[in-house]
Amino acid sequence: MDDAAGNQVPLAEFLRVEHLGIAVHSLDAAEPMYTRLLGVPPYKRETVESEGVVTSFFRVGPNKIELLESLNSEGPIAKFLTQRGEGLHHVAYAVEDIRASMARLRDQGFQLLSEEPKAGADHQWVCFLHPRSAGGLLVELCQPRQDSGSSSVA
Ligand code: ZN
Repeated sequence: MDDAAGNQVPLAEFLRVEHLGIAVHSLDAAEPMYTRLLGVPPYKRETVESEGVVTSFFRVGPNKIELLESLNSEGPIAKFLTQRGEGLHHVAYAVEDIRASMARLRDQGFQLLSEEPKAGADHQWVCFLHPRSAGGLLVELCQPRQDSGSSSVA
């Protein structure tokens, strides 16, 4: 795509890194360290039953850090912790139009983990891409849910 001056304009589809997701064994144990590290306490905890996780969110400037604790011993976070221990679990990108991004990425051979956007934590529609197709790291797409009032990182 070219602008009026003939310059290449990238598709404004991926907007920014929305948050980093970090797997932890216990939010109660991890939150104090992250509070000391980041200099701010978490601003919310939220359970996402469909994903089997409890999340805790910190603001870092315009970005967010999401800690994830598993609600059970069989979910993806529990498996990740068993295999790799605590640490970076996924990178989430804010996108303009999650369905358009999903269609493009599917066409380009990326493996989507759901056919439809799912209701994720912190007022987002989300879709994950399998790490196998995305350079070894789980990727999450996020688009704010309009139905939920303020979802911005104020
Ligand atoms: Zn996330």
